[in-house]
Amino acid sequence: MKKKKYIVVLGAGESGTGAAVLCEKQGYKVFVSDNNRIDKKYKNVLIHHKIDFEEGVHSIEKIMPANEVIKSPGIPECSPLIKNLIEKGIPVISEIEFAARFTHAKLICITGSNGKTTTTLLTWHILKNAGLNVGLAGNVGQSFALQVAEQNFDYYVLEISSFQLDGMFKVKADIAILLNITPDHLNRYNNNFDNYIDSKFRITQNQTENDFLIYTADDPIISRELRNRKINAQLVPVSLHKNENDKGAYIENDKIIFKNGINTFTMSFEKLALQGKHNTYNSLAAGVATHLMEIRKQSIKQSLADFRNIAHRLEYVASVHGITFINDSKATNVNATWYALEFYSKPIVWIAGGVDKGNNYDVLKPLVSEKVKAIICLGLDNTNLRKAFGGIVKVMIETESAEEAVNEAYLLAKKNDTVLLSPACASFDLFLNFEERGELFKYAVKQL
Ligand code: ADP
Repeated sequence: MKKKKYIVVLGAGESGTGAAVLCEKQGYKVFVSDNNRIDKKYKNVLIHHKIDFEEGVHSIEKIMPANEVIKSPGIPECSPLIKNLIEKGIPVISEIEFAARFTHAKLICITGSNGKTTTTLLTWHILKNAGLNVGLAGNVGQSFALQVAEQNFDYYVLEISSFQLDGMFKVKADIAILLNITPDHLNRYNNNFDNYIDSKFRITQNQTENDFLIYTADDPIISRELRNRKINAQLVPVSLHKNENDKGAYIENDKIIFKNGINTFTMSFEKLALQGKHNTYNSLAAGVATHLMEIRKQSIKQSLADFRNIAHRLEYVASVHGITFINDSKATNVNATWYALEFYSKPIVWIAGGVDKGNNYDVLKPLVSEKVKAIICLGLDNTNLRKAFGGIVKVMIETESAEEAVNEAYLLAKKNDTVLLSPACASFDLFLNFEERGELFKYAVKQL
């Protein structure tokens, strides 16, 4: 009798647990290993499916015999265990790669340094409102693999991070969306921006001339790379400037033009639910993706107009004595913060800081000197912020809790000012995650 394929799943979070359930459903022998404690919710799923697992340890003797390993995106490629597996020639793949083997659904795969979640949710919102049988997965919502195991969707909108892309080899995006490429997570890419760019472009691998690559034509890195790379998919640019391509989306005289190669429709720019320049790109990309899928134009327009973004992205919190408080806790890199500072009018009291992933703050300097009247540092080590902005902004205050930051900001701000939490840094020094940082910020504002 043929021996069962043995798959090891590393990391028992949302994606790993889903992958394990799908392995079991496909009749593979599966073992889950997590060197941290496994969340109760996921442990219960593993127990329910009678899946063998361990926590708080990686037992080499159980892992190394694997025929294939499905790795959580949180585990770096350079960790000794992963290096060891790769050296031994054991394939290490992502949950997305694994799950895609077992579905015939059409895949809309969305990546970029910023805007992935927003664009993924918006695209899904349009398709769902149009009545399609469509799943939402990847970095957002329920695990892709779990849905492949338990549901029967015709389409998936997948938010794909570079870490997932690194473990993707054969997946083909019917529609790929590449929003932007700016330096992020370089610590996981040997501090080499080119490696990160290569990772992002994996979204186009395996695409054929029947598929589409939607990309932001105004992004200098993407347009440079497109000149130098061979892409098989049909190129579909989105831009704030007029574009002659027969497929794409752009702005002309405050109107958005959508073209899918068959027909064209327009929408008034002000009708978009998502405000801000960066969000315009997200709306154009989601709109043209669904236009290419031949969703009715009226339906696309309606959904682009009535979409409500999720929390922590340029989220309006409250106005207290004429001071506006904005929660952009999800801005964990410089580029996201750039758009936030660009969007709000001065004067701004800017709350920034946290875990700096090797940030270069130079691009923010012109906006900061024009608009920011005070900086509230919210982090354990604010050396880099101080170095970058100490000479530009006179008032810089150090705080170590969201409550302290809000109180200090409130003292400094005047009527018509904006207090903007847009940290440009990860949150792990003082908070569990960006959600907790945003929630504590909102709570503190509500206490004022
Ligand atoms: P991601 O999933 O890629 O992290 P999100 O949609 O969660 O992206 O947004 C993260 C941050 O980036 C937020 O601060 C948001 O305001 C900002 N942002 C959203 N879309 C874009 C874009 N197209 N370009 C730059 N910044 C963006």
